[in-house]
Amino acid sequence: MDGEPDLCIGGTWRHASDGGTRDIVNPADGSVVAVVDEATPDDARDAVAAARAAFDGGAWRATTAAERSELLNRIADLLQRDKEDLAHLETRDTGKTLAESRIDIDDVTSVFRYYSRLIGVEADTLVDVGDPAVISRVVREPIGVCVLIAPWNYPLLQMSWKVAPALAAGCTMVAKPSEVTPLSTIAFVRLLDEAGIPPGVVNLLQGSGATLGSALTDNPDVDFISFTGGLATGRNIAATAAAHVTKVALELGGKNPHIVFADVRDSGDWDAAVDHVLTGVFLHSGQVCSAGTRLIVEESIADDFVAALAERAAAIRVGNGMDPASETGPLVSEQHRAKVEDYVALGISEGAKLVCGGARPTDAALADGYFYLPTIFDRCDRSMRIVAEETFGPILTVERFTSEDEAIALGNDTEYGLAAGVRTSDAARGERVVRALRHGTVWLNDFGYYTASAEWGGFGKSGNGRELGPSGLAEYQELKHIWHNTAPTAAGWFKN
Ligand code: NAD
Repeated sequence: MDGEPDLCIGGTWRHASDGGTRDIVNPADGSVVAVVDEATPDDARDAVAAARAAFDGGAWRATTAAERSELLNRIADLLQRDKEDLAHLETRDTGKTLAESRIDIDDVTSVFRYYSRLIGVEADTLVDVGDPAVISRVVREPIGVCVLIAPWNYPLLQMSWKVAPALAAGCTMVAKPSEVTPLSTIAFVRLLDEAGIPPGVVNLLQGSGATLGSALTDNPDVDFISFTGGLATGRNIAATAAAHVTKVALELGGKNPHIVFADVRDSGDWDAAVDHVLTGVFLHSGQVCSAGTRLIVEESIADDFVAALAERAAAIRVGNGMDPASETGPLVSEQHRAKVEDYVALGISEGAKLVCGGARPTDAALADGYFYLPTIFDRCDRSMRIVAEETFGPILTVERFTSEDEAIALGNDTEYGLAAGVRTSDAARGERVVRALRHGTVWLNDFGYYTASAEWGGFGKSGNGRELGPSGLAEYQELKHIWHNTAPTAAGWFKN
Protein backbone atom coordinates (compact mmCIF):
# COMPACT_ATOMS: atom_id res chain seq x y z
CA MET A 1 0.00 0.00 0.00
CA ASP A 2 1.33 3.45 -0.87
CA GLY A 3 4.69 1.99 -1.96
CA GLU A 4 5.12 -0.04 1.24
CA PRO A 5 5.47 -3.79 0.64
CA ASP A 6 2.20 -5.66 1.29
CA LEU A 7 3.26 -9.31 1.29
CA CYS A 8 4.53 -10.81 4.51
CA ILE A 9 6.58 -13.99 4.16
CA GLY A 10 8.59 -15.49 7.02
CA GLY A 11 8.35 -12.24 8.98
CA THR A 12 9.70 -10.08 6.14
CA TRP A 13 7.51 -7.59 4.29
CA ARG A 14 8.18 -7.65 0.55
CA HIS A 15 6.86 -6.76 -2.87
CA ALA A 16 5.64 -9.38 -5.35
CA SER A 17 8.41 -11.45 -6.92
CA ASP A 18 7.53 -10.12 -10.40
CA GLY A 19 6.78 -6.56 -9.19
CA GLY A 20 3.09 -6.92 -10.04
CA THR A 21 0.46 -4.73 -8.40
CA ARG A 22 -3.31 -4.31 -8.37
CA ASP A 23 -5.46 -1.20 -8.06
CA ILE A 24 -7.92 -1.24 -5.19
CA VAL A 25 -11.10 0.65 -6.00
CA ASN A 26 -13.53 2.48 -3.71
CA PRO A 27 -16.95 1.21 -4.80
CA ALA A 28 -18.63 4.40 -3.61
CA ASP A 29 -17.00 6.54 -6.32
CA GLY A 30 -14.83 4.31 -8.53
CA SER A 31 -11.59 5.98 -7.36
CA VAL A 32 -8.37 4.04 -6.81
CA VAL A 33 -7.73 4.11 -3.05
CA ALA A 34 -4.57 2.00 -3.00
CA VAL A 35 -2.18 0.04 -5.14
CA VAL A 36 -1.16 -3.25 -3.54
CA ASP A 37 1.35 -5.95 -4.40
CA GLU A 38 -0.10 -8.87 -6.35
CA ALA A 39 1.58 -12.10 -5.26
CA THR A 40 2.69 -14.76 -7.74
CA PRO A 41 2.66 -18.57 -7.52
CA ASP A 42 6.37 -18.32 -6.58
CA ASP A 43 5.41 -16.11 -3.65
CA ALA A 44 2.80 -18.72 -2.70
CA ARG A 45 5.45 -21.44 -2.59
CA ASP A 46 7.70 -19.21 -0.45
CA ALA A 47 4.88 -18.38 1.95
CA VAL A 48 3.84 -22.01 2.42
CA ALA A 49 7.51 -22.96 2.91
CA ALA A 50 7.87 -20.21 5.54
CA ALA A 51 4.76 -21.42 7.36
CA ARG A 52 6.01 -25.01 7.13
CA ALA A 53 9.42 -24.06 8.57
CA ALA A 54 7.80 -22.06 11.39
CA PHE A 55 5.61 -25.03 12.24
CA ASP A 56 8.23 -27.76 11.92
CA GLY A 57 10.76 -25.65 13.84
CA GLY A 58 8.55 -26.45 16.81
CA ALA A 59 9.01 -23.28 18.89
CA TRP A 60 5.59 -21.85 18.08
CA ARG A 61 3.63 -25.02 18.62
CA ALA A 62 5.52 -25.59 21.87
CA THR A 63 4.18 -22.32 23.31
CA THR A 64 1.77 -22.94 26.15
CA ALA A 65 -1.94 -22.37 25.81
CA ALA A 66 -1.59 -19.64 28.42
CA GLU A 67 1.02 -17.83 26.29
CA ARG A 68 -1.14 -18.01 23.18
CA SER A 69 -4.17 -16.92 25.17
CA GLU A 70 -2.30 -13.82 26.32
CA LEU A 71 -1.18 -13.08 22.77
CA LEU A 72 -4.75 -13.27 21.47
CA ASN A 73 -5.85 -10.85 24.15
CA ARG A 74 -3.06 -8.45 23.19
CA ILE A 75 -4.24 -8.60 19.57
CA ALA A 76 -7.77 -7.78 20.74
CA ASP A 77 -6.43 -4.74 22.62
CA LEU A 78 -4.58 -3.52 19.51
CA LEU A 79 -7.69 -4.01 17.36
CA GLN A 80 -9.61 -1.73 19.70
CA ARG A 81 -6.78 0.81 19.73
CA ASP A 82 -6.82 0.92 15.89
CA LYS A 83 -10.59 0.49 15.52
CA GLU A 84 -11.23 3.79 13.74
CA ASP A 85 -8.39 3.33 11.22
CA LEU A 86 -9.43 -0.24 10.47
CA ALA A 87 -13.10 0.71 10.13
CA HIS A 88 -12.23 3.52 7.68
CA LEU A 89 -10.13 1.13 5.59
CA GLU A 90 -12.96 -1.40 5.54
CA THR A 91 -15.49 1.20 4.39
CA ARG A 92 -13.21 2.59 1.67
CA ASP A 93 -12.59 -0.92 0.41
CA THR A 94 -16.03 -2.56 0.66
CA GLY A 95 -18.34 0.47 0.54
CA LYS A 96 -20.24 -0.59 3.65
CA THR A 97 -21.27 2.16 6.06
CA LEU A 98 -18.80 3.26 8.69
CA ALA A 99 -21.29 2.23 11.37
CA GLU A 100 -21.21 -1.33 9.98
CA SER A 101 -17.42 -1.33 9.76
CA ARG A 102 -17.14 -0.26 13.40
CA ILE A 103 -19.40 -3.14 14.40
CA ASP A 104 -17.25 -5.48 12.31
CA ILE A 105 -14.08 -4.44 14.16
CA ASP A 106 -15.83 -4.94 17.52
CA ASP A 107 -16.91 -8.39 16.33
CA VAL A 108 -13.35 -9.19 15.20
CA THR A 109 -12.17 -8.18 18.66
CA SER A 110 -14.67 -10.45 20.38
CA VAL A 111 -13.55 -13.40 18.26
CA PHE A 112 -9.98 -12.93 19.56
CA ARG A 113 -11.22 -12.51 23.14
CA TYR A 114 -13.39 -15.63 22.84
CA TYR A 115 -10.56 -17.87 21.60
CA SER A 116 -8.21 -16.37 24.15
CA ARG A 117 -10.63 -17.57 26.85
CA LEU A 118 -11.35 -20.93 25.23
CA ILE A 119 -7.73 -21.98 24.76
CA GLY A 120 -7.10 -21.05 28.39
CA VAL A 121 -9.59 -23.63 29.68
CA GLU A 122 -9.12 -26.46 27.18
CA ALA A 123 -8.14 -29.74 28.82
CA ASP A 124 -7.11 -33.23 27.71
CA THR A 125 -9.81 -35.91 27.74
CA LEU A 126 -9.11 -38.86 30.05
CA VAL A 127 -10.49 -42.19 28.88
CA ASP A 128 -11.17 -45.15 31.15
CA VAL A 129 -9.95 -48.24 29.22
CA GLY A 130 -10.85 -50.67 32.01
CA ASP A 131 -7.25 -51.32 33.09
CA PRO A 132 -6.00 -49.34 36.10
CA ALA A 133 -2.42 -49.65 34.82
CA VAL A 134 -3.24 -47.70 31.66
CA ILE A 135 -3.48 -43.95 31.51
CA SER A 136 -5.33 -43.13 28.32
CA ARG A 137 -5.56 -39.51 27.18
CA VAL A 138 -6.84 -37.77 24.08
CA VAL A 139 -4.85 -34.57 23.54
CA ARG A 140 -5.37 -31.79 21.03
CA GLU A 141 -2.48 -30.72 18.84
CA PRO A 142 -2.27 -28.07 16.12
CA ILE A 143 -3.12 -29.41 12.67
CA GLY A 144 -0.12 -27.68 11.10
CA VAL A 145 0.15 -25.31 8.13
CA CYS A 146 -3.17 -23.67 7.25
CA VAL A 147 -4.20 -21.75 4.16
CA LEU A 148 -6.90 -19.22 5.02
CA ILE A 149 -8.90 -17.78 2.12
CA ALA A 150 -11.51 -15.07 2.72
CA PRO A 151 -14.18 -13.30 0.65
CA TRP A 152 -14.79 -9.57 0.11
CA ASN A 153 -18.04 -8.93 1.95
CA TYR A 154 -16.70 -9.08 5.52
CA PRO A 155 -12.96 -9.01 4.80
CA LEU A 156 -11.44 -8.76 8.26
CA LEU A 157 -14.31 -10.44 10.09
CA GLN A 158 -14.21 -13.59 7.95
CA MET A 159 -10.43 -13.67 8.20
CA SER A 160 -10.58 -13.34 12.00
CA TRP A 161 -12.85 -16.39 12.26
CA LYS A 162 -9.87 -18.29 10.83
CA VAL A 163 -6.77 -16.53 12.19
CA ALA A 164 -7.93 -16.43 15.84
CA PRO A 165 -8.61 -20.17 16.25
CA ALA A 166 -5.56 -21.06 14.11
CA LEU A 167 -3.31 -19.04 16.42
CA ALA A 168 -5.08 -20.37 19.51
CA ALA A 169 -4.43 -23.94 18.35
CA GLY A 170 -0.72 -23.26 17.65
CA CYS A 171 -0.90 -23.51 13.85
CA THR A 172 1.06 -21.52 11.28
CA MET A 173 -0.70 -20.04 8.29
CA VAL A 174 -0.81 -18.24 4.98
CA ALA A 175 -3.70 -15.77 4.85
CA LYS A 176 -5.16 -14.66 1.52
CA PRO A 177 -7.84 -11.98 1.67
CA SER A 178 -10.01 -11.32 -1.36
CA GLU A 179 -8.09 -9.45 -4.05
CA VAL A 180 -11.05 -7.03 -4.16
CA THR A 181 -10.76 -5.98 -0.49
CA PRO A 182 -7.31 -6.68 0.99
CA LEU A 183 -6.66 -3.39 2.84
CA SER A 184 -7.90 -4.17 6.35
CA THR A 185 -6.12 -7.53 6.38
CA ILE A 186 -2.80 -5.91 5.43
CA ALA A 187 -3.19 -3.44 8.30
CA PHE A 188 -4.19 -6.28 10.60
CA VAL A 189 -1.11 -8.40 9.83
CA ARG A 190 1.08 -5.36 10.56
CA LEU A 191 -0.69 -5.17 13.89
CA LEU A 192 0.08 -8.88 14.52
CA ASP A 193 3.78 -8.04 14.10
CA GLU A 194 3.40 -5.45 16.79
CA ALA A 195 1.59 -7.93 19.05
CA GLY A 196 4.67 -10.19 18.87
CA ILE A 197 3.60 -13.04 16.58
CA PRO A 198 6.86 -14.85 15.70
CA PRO A 199 8.16 -14.69 12.08
CA GLY A 200 6.60 -17.22 9.72
CA VAL A 201 3.58 -17.94 11.90
CA VAL A 202 1.27 -15.62 9.94
CA ASN A 203 2.20 -15.07 6.31
CA LEU A 204 0.14 -12.79 4.09
CA LEU A 205 -0.39 -12.75 0.34
CA GLN A 206 -2.79 -10.79 -1.85
CA GLY A 207 -3.74 -11.83 -5.32
CA SER A 208 -6.27 -13.42 -7.61
CA GLY A 209 -8.06 -16.62 -6.77
CA ALA A 210 -7.31 -18.24 -10.10
CA THR A 211 -3.52 -17.93 -9.92
CA LEU A 212 -2.51 -17.28 -6.32
CA GLY A 213 -5.43 -19.10 -4.68
CA SER A 214 -4.89 -22.26 -6.64
CA ALA A 215 -1.12 -22.18 -6.05
CA LEU A 216 -1.84 -22.07 -2.32
CA THR A 217 -4.37 -24.89 -2.31
CA ASP A 218 -2.42 -27.14 -4.69
CA ASN A 219 0.54 -27.61 -2.35
CA PRO A 220 1.32 -30.86 -0.52
CA ASP A 221 2.90 -28.98 2.40
CA VAL A 222 -0.47 -27.56 3.42
CA ASP A 223 -2.31 -29.47 6.16
CA PHE A 224 -5.61 -27.61 6.23
CA ILE A 225 -7.49 -25.17 4.00
CA SER A 226 -10.19 -22.99 5.48
CA PHE A 227 -12.17 -21.28 2.75
CA THR A 228 -15.05 -18.84 2.77
CA GLY A 229 -16.54 -17.83 -0.55
CA GLY A 230 -18.78 -18.99 -3.36
CA LEU A 231 -20.00 -22.52 -4.08
CA ALA A 232 -18.19 -22.86 -7.42
CA THR A 233 -14.87 -21.83 -5.86
CA GLY A 234 -15.44 -24.15 -2.91
CA ARG A 235 -15.99 -27.10 -5.26
CA ASN A 236 -12.78 -26.23 -7.08
CA ILE A 237 -10.75 -26.03 -3.90
CA ALA A 238 -12.15 -29.28 -2.54
CA ALA A 239 -11.20 -31.05 -5.78
CA THR A 240 -7.68 -29.58 -5.76
CA ALA A 241 -7.14 -30.44 -2.10
CA ALA A 242 -8.36 -34.01 -2.61
CA ALA A 243 -5.26 -34.78 -4.67
CA HIS A 244 -3.14 -34.11 -1.57
CA VAL A 245 -5.69 -35.50 0.93
CA THR A 246 -5.63 -32.05 2.54
CA LYS A 247 -8.41 -31.39 5.03
CA VAL A 248 -10.77 -28.64 3.84
CA ALA A 249 -13.44 -26.59 5.63
CA LEU A 250 -15.85 -24.71 3.38
CA GLU A 251 -18.13 -21.81 4.28
CA LEU A 252 -20.11 -21.20 1.11
CA GLY A 253 -23.14 -19.33 -0.04
CA GLY A 254 -26.73 -19.28 1.09
CA LYS A 255 -30.24 -18.68 -0.17
CA ASN A 256 -31.86 -18.08 3.11
CA PRO A 257 -35.60 -18.30 3.81
CA HIS A 258 -37.36 -15.98 6.22
CA ILE A 259 -40.73 -17.52 7.11
CA VAL A 260 -43.43 -15.21 8.47
CA PHE A 261 -46.69 -16.59 9.91
CA ALA A 262 -49.95 -14.63 9.91
CA ASP A 263 -50.05 -14.51 13.72
CA VAL A 264 -47.55 -11.63 13.68
CA ARG A 265 -50.48 -9.40 12.71
CA ASP A 266 -52.45 -9.83 15.93
CA SER A 267 -49.58 -10.42 18.34
CA GLY A 268 -48.23 -6.87 18.15
CA ASP A 269 -45.11 -8.10 16.33
CA TRP A 270 -46.04 -6.69 12.92
CA ASP A 271 -43.67 -3.71 12.81
CA ALA A 272 -40.74 -5.64 14.25
CA ALA A 273 -41.36 -8.49 11.78
CA VAL A 274 -41.36 -6.07 8.84
CA ASP A 275 -38.24 -4.43 10.23
CA HIS A 276 -36.34 -7.71 10.61
CA VAL A 277 -37.24 -8.94 7.13
CA LEU A 278 -36.12 -5.58 5.72
CA THR A 279 -32.82 -5.52 7.65
CA GLY A 280 -32.23 -9.21 7.06
CA VAL A 281 -32.14 -8.75 3.30
CA PHE A 282 -31.00 -5.17 2.67
CA LEU A 283 -28.21 -4.74 5.25
CA HIS A 284 -24.89 -4.22 3.41
CA SER A 285 -26.99 -4.10 0.23
CA GLY A 286 -27.65 -7.82 0.47
CA GLN A 287 -23.98 -8.77 0.24
CA VAL A 288 -24.27 -11.08 3.23
CA CYS A 289 -24.04 -14.88 3.03
CA SER A 290 -26.86 -15.23 5.55
CA ALA A 291 -29.08 -12.51 4.04
CA GLY A 292 -32.77 -13.43 4.27
CA THR A 293 -33.37 -13.13 0.55
CA ARG A 294 -36.45 -15.39 0.35
CA LEU A 295 -39.51 -14.08 2.17
CA ILE A 296 -41.94 -16.96 2.66
CA VAL A 297 -45.09 -15.36 4.02
CA GLU A 298 -48.53 -16.69 4.94
CA GLU A 299 -51.03 -15.90 2.19
CA SER A 300 -53.58 -14.15 4.42
CA ILE A 301 -51.15 -11.35 5.34
CA ALA A 302 -48.94 -11.39 2.25
CA ASP A 303 -50.38 -8.37 0.41
CA ASP A 304 -50.24 -6.12 3.46
CA PHE A 305 -46.84 -7.39 4.57
CA VAL A 306 -45.27 -6.83 1.15
CA ALA A 307 -46.83 -3.36 0.92
CA ALA A 308 -45.37 -2.42 4.33
CA LEU A 309 -41.98 -3.78 3.29
CA ALA A 310 -42.00 -1.96 -0.02
CA GLU A 311 -42.77 1.34 1.67
CA ARG A 312 -39.81 0.95 4.00
CA ALA A 313 -37.48 -0.44 1.29
CA ALA A 314 -38.15 2.60 -0.90
CA ALA A 315 -37.17 4.85 2.03
CA ILE A 316 -33.75 3.21 2.66
CA ARG A 317 -31.04 5.82 2.25
CA VAL A 318 -28.52 4.38 -0.19
CA GLY A 319 -25.27 6.35 -0.26
CA ASN A 320 -21.56 6.67 0.38
CA GLY A 321 -20.64 4.64 3.46
CA MET A 322 -18.59 7.55 4.79
CA ASP A 323 -21.71 9.72 4.96
CA PRO A 324 -23.38 9.20 8.36
CA ALA A 325 -26.77 9.69 6.68
CA SER A 326 -26.31 6.60 4.51
CA GLU A 327 -28.06 3.45 5.69
CA THR A 328 -26.49 1.14 3.13
CA GLY A 329 -23.62 1.47 0.69
CA PRO A 330 -22.86 0.41 -2.88
CA LEU A 331 -22.24 -3.02 -4.33
CA VAL A 332 -18.59 -3.99 -4.14
CA SER A 333 -17.67 -3.58 -7.80
CA GLU A 334 -18.99 -2.69 -11.21
CA GLN A 335 -18.76 -6.33 -12.19
CA HIS A 336 -20.80 -7.41 -9.17
CA ARG A 337 -23.48 -4.79 -9.86
CA ALA A 338 -23.73 -6.08 -13.42
CA LYS A 339 -24.38 -9.56 -12.02
CA VAL A 340 -27.13 -8.21 -9.76
CA GLU A 341 -28.67 -6.32 -12.69
CA ASP A 342 -28.68 -9.53 -14.72
CA TYR A 343 -30.59 -11.24 -11.91
CA VAL A 344 -33.19 -8.46 -11.86
CA ALA A 345 -33.67 -8.82 -15.62
CA LEU A 346 -33.95 -12.57 -15.12
CA GLY A 347 -36.61 -12.14 -12.40
CA ILE A 348 -38.68 -9.99 -14.72
CA SER A 349 -38.32 -12.44 -17.58
CA GLU A 350 -39.32 -15.32 -15.27
CA GLY A 351 -42.58 -13.53 -14.52
CA ALA A 352 -41.92 -12.25 -10.99
CA LYS A 353 -43.73 -8.99 -10.15
CA LEU A 354 -41.35 -6.08 -9.52
CA VAL A 355 -42.72 -4.19 -6.51
CA CYS A 356 -39.94 -1.68 -5.89
CA GLY A 357 -36.35 -0.90 -6.86
CA GLY A 358 -35.06 -2.72 -9.91
CA ALA A 359 -32.84 0.22 -10.87
CA ARG A 360 -29.79 2.30 -9.97
CA PRO A 361 -30.47 5.38 -7.85
CA THR A 362 -30.96 8.55 -9.87
CA ASP A 363 -29.04 10.82 -7.45
CA ALA A 364 -26.24 12.37 -9.53
CA ALA A 365 -23.91 12.33 -6.50
CA LEU A 366 -23.92 8.51 -6.63
CA ALA A 367 -23.37 8.20 -10.39
CA ASP A 368 -19.70 7.13 -10.16
CA GLY A 369 -20.34 4.44 -7.53
CA TYR A 370 -21.81 0.96 -7.92
CA PHE A 371 -25.11 1.64 -6.17
CA TYR A 372 -28.34 -0.29 -6.62
CA LEU A 373 -31.77 0.23 -5.09
CA PRO A 374 -33.40 -2.23 -2.70
CA THR A 375 -35.54 -4.44 -4.91
CA ILE A 376 -38.56 -6.61 -4.11
CA PHE A 377 -40.11 -9.24 -6.38
CA ASP A 378 -43.56 -10.56 -5.41
CA ARG A 379 -45.39 -13.56 -6.86
CA CYS A 380 -42.29 -15.70 -7.03
CA ASP A 381 -42.18 -19.46 -6.94
CA ARG A 382 -39.49 -21.98 -6.32
CA SER A 383 -39.13 -22.99 -9.95
CA MET A 384 -37.57 -19.57 -10.66
CA ARG A 385 -33.81 -19.15 -10.77
CA ILE A 386 -34.19 -15.81 -8.98
CA VAL A 387 -35.53 -17.83 -6.02
CA ALA A 388 -33.04 -20.69 -6.23
CA GLU A 389 -29.73 -18.90 -6.85
CA GLU A 390 -27.68 -16.69 -4.57
CA THR A 391 -27.89 -13.17 -6.05
CA PHE A 392 -25.74 -11.57 -3.33
CA GLY A 393 -27.39 -8.22 -3.85
CA PRO A 394 -30.36 -6.17 -2.58
CA ILE A 395 -33.04 -8.46 -4.00
CA LEU A 396 -35.91 -9.95 -1.99
CA THR A 397 -38.19 -12.58 -3.53
CA VAL A 398 -41.62 -13.28 -2.05
CA GLU A 399 -43.33 -16.68 -1.97
CA ARG A 400 -46.62 -17.39 -0.22
CA PHE A 401 -47.85 -20.39 1.79
CA THR A 402 -51.11 -21.55 3.33
CA SER A 403 -49.97 -24.26 5.79
CA GLU A 404 -47.12 -24.89 8.20
CA ASP A 405 -46.02 -27.96 6.24
CA GLU A 406 -45.89 -25.94 3.05
CA ALA A 407 -43.79 -23.25 4.77
CA ILE A 408 -41.31 -25.87 5.95
CA ALA A 409 -41.17 -27.53 2.53
CA LEU A 410 -40.46 -24.18 0.87
CA GLY A 411 -37.86 -23.25 3.48
CA ASN A 412 -36.02 -26.51 2.92
CA ASP A 413 -36.27 -26.40 -0.86
CA THR A 414 -32.79 -25.07 -1.52
CA GLU A 415 -29.47 -26.66 -2.36
CA TYR A 416 -27.98 -24.43 0.33
CA GLY A 417 -28.64 -24.55 4.07
CA LEU A 418 -26.82 -21.70 5.75
CA ALA A 419 -29.42 -19.74 7.69
CA ALA A 420 -33.16 -19.24 8.10
CA GLY A 421 -35.59 -17.11 10.09
CA VAL A 422 -38.99 -17.94 11.53
CA ARG A 423 -41.48 -15.34 12.77
CA THR A 424 -44.43 -16.49 14.83
CA SER A 425 -46.04 -15.74 18.18
CA ASP A 426 -46.97 -19.42 18.63
CA ALA A 427 -44.14 -20.92 20.69
CA ALA A 428 -44.95 -24.55 19.91
CA ARG A 429 -45.13 -23.86 16.20
CA GLY A 430 -41.89 -21.90 16.41
CA GLU A 431 -40.10 -24.87 17.96
CA ARG A 432 -41.56 -27.32 15.39
CA VAL A 433 -40.53 -25.22 12.42
CA VAL A 434 -37.09 -24.35 13.77
CA ARG A 435 -36.34 -28.04 14.26
CA ALA A 436 -37.69 -29.00 10.85
CA LEU A 437 -35.54 -26.52 8.92
CA ARG A 438 -32.28 -27.90 7.52
CA HIS A 439 -30.07 -24.85 8.01
CA GLY A 440 -26.94 -24.21 10.09
CA THR A 441 -28.38 -21.21 11.95
CA VAL A 442 -32.08 -20.61 12.55
CA TRP A 443 -33.40 -17.44 14.15
CA LEU A 444 -36.77 -17.48 15.87
CA ASN A 445 -38.32 -14.00 16.07
CA ASP A 446 -34.99 -12.39 15.31
CA PHE A 447 -32.66 -12.31 12.34
CA GLY A 448 -28.97 -11.99 11.53
CA TYR A 449 -27.35 -12.19 14.95
CA TYR A 450 -24.48 -14.47 15.87
CA THR A 451 -21.98 -14.88 18.67
CA ALA A 452 -18.35 -15.97 18.68
CA SER A 453 -19.27 -18.65 21.24
CA ALA A 454 -21.69 -20.58 19.00
CA GLU A 455 -20.93 -22.52 15.84
CA TRP A 456 -21.53 -21.02 12.39
CA GLY A 457 -21.73 -23.05 9.20
CA GLY A 458 -23.91 -24.65 6.62
CA PHE A 459 -26.00 -27.70 5.90
CA GLY A 460 -26.16 -28.91 2.30
CA LYS A 461 -24.09 -27.00 -0.23
CA SER A 462 -23.51 -24.11 2.15
CA GLY A 463 -20.39 -25.98 3.11
CA ASN A 464 -18.88 -28.32 5.62
CA GLY A 465 -17.12 -27.83 8.90
CA ARG A 466 -17.90 -25.07 11.37
CA GLU A 467 -16.40 -21.75 12.35
CA LEU A 468 -16.70 -20.04 15.75
CA GLY A 469 -17.53 -21.83 18.99
CA PRO A 470 -15.51 -24.80 20.26
CA SER A 471 -15.89 -26.59 16.89
CA GLY A 472 -14.27 -23.60 15.19
CA LEU A 473 -11.15 -24.30 17.24
CA ALA A 474 -11.39 -28.06 16.75
CA GLU A 475 -11.04 -27.56 12.97
CA TYR A 476 -7.45 -26.45 13.61
CA GLN A 477 -6.59 -29.35 15.90
CA GLU A 478 -5.62 -32.96 15.43
CA LEU A 479 -6.67 -35.41 18.12
CA LYS A 480 -3.97 -37.69 19.43
CA HIS A 481 -4.72 -40.67 21.64
CA ILE A 482 -1.89 -41.42 24.06
CA TRP A 483 -2.04 -44.88 25.63
CA HIS A 484 0.41 -45.08 28.51
CA ASN A 485 0.87 -48.43 30.25
CA THR A 486 2.37 -47.78 33.67
CA ALA A 487 2.91 -51.52 34.37
CA PRO A 488 4.01 -53.04 31.04
CA THR A 489 3.83 -56.81 30.47
CA ALA A 490 4.25 -58.99 27.36
CA ALA A 491 1.33 -59.01 24.93
CA GLY A 492 1.39 -62.84 24.93
CA TRP A 493 -0.44 -63.33 21.61
CA PHE A 494 2.25 -65.32 19.80
CA LYS A 495 3.20 -68.39 21.81
CA ASN A 496 6.66 -69.17 20.41
P1 NAD B 1 -15.23 -16.15 -4.29
O1 NAD B 1 -15.49 -17.61 -4.17
O2 NAD B 1 -15.23 -15.54 -5.63
O3 NAD B 1 -13.83 -15.76 -3.64
C1 NAD B 1 -13.54 -16.04 -2.29
C2 NAD B 1 -12.03 -16.13 -2.13
O4 NAD B 1 -11.55 -17.25 -2.86
C3 NAD B 1 -11.26 -14.92 -2.67
O5 NAD B 1 -10.18 -14.66 -1.81
C4 NAD B 1 -10.77 -15.42 -4.02
O6 NAD B 1 -9.61 -14.79 -4.48
C5 NAD B 1 -10.49 -16.88 -3.70
N1 NAD B 1 -10.49 -17.78 -4.86
C6 NAD B 1 -11.19 -17.67 -6.01
N2 NAD B 1 -10.91 -18.71 -6.82
C7 NAD B 1 -10.03 -19.50 -6.16
C8 NAD B 1 -9.38 -20.73 -6.47
N3 NAD B 1 -9.59 -21.38 -7.61
N4 NAD B 1 -8.54 -21.25 -5.55
C9 NAD B 1 -8.35 -20.65 -4.36
N5 NAD B 1 -8.93 -19.48 -4.02
C10 NAD B 1 -9.76 -18.91 -4.91
O7 NAD B 1 -16.30 -15.45 -3.32
P2 NAD B 1 -16.54 -13.89 -3.11
O8 NAD B 1 -17.26 -13.39 -4.30
O9 NAD B 1 -15.29 -13.25 -2.65
O10 NAD B 1 -17.52 -13.93 -1.84
C11 NAD B 1 -18.89 -14.08 -1.94
C12 NAD B 1 -19.29 -15.50 -1.58
O11 NAD B 1 -18.83 -15.80 -0.26
C13 NAD B 1 -20.78 -15.64 -1.53
O12 NAD B 1 -21.15 -16.85 -2.15
C14 NAD B 1 -21.09 -15.71 -0.03
O13 NAD B 1 -22.26 -16.36 0.28
C15 NAD B 1 -19.88 -16.40 0.48
N6 NAD B 1 -19.72 -16.17 1.91
C16 NAD B 1 -20.02 -17.18 2.77
C17 NAD B 1 -19.92 -16.97 4.14
C18 NAD B 1 -20.26 -18.05 5.13
O14 NAD B 1 -20.06 -17.85 6.31
N7 NAD B 1 -20.77 -19.19 4.69
C19 NAD B 1 -19.50 -15.73 4.62
C20 NAD B 1 -19.20 -14.72 3.71
C21 NAD B 1 -19.31 -14.96 2.35
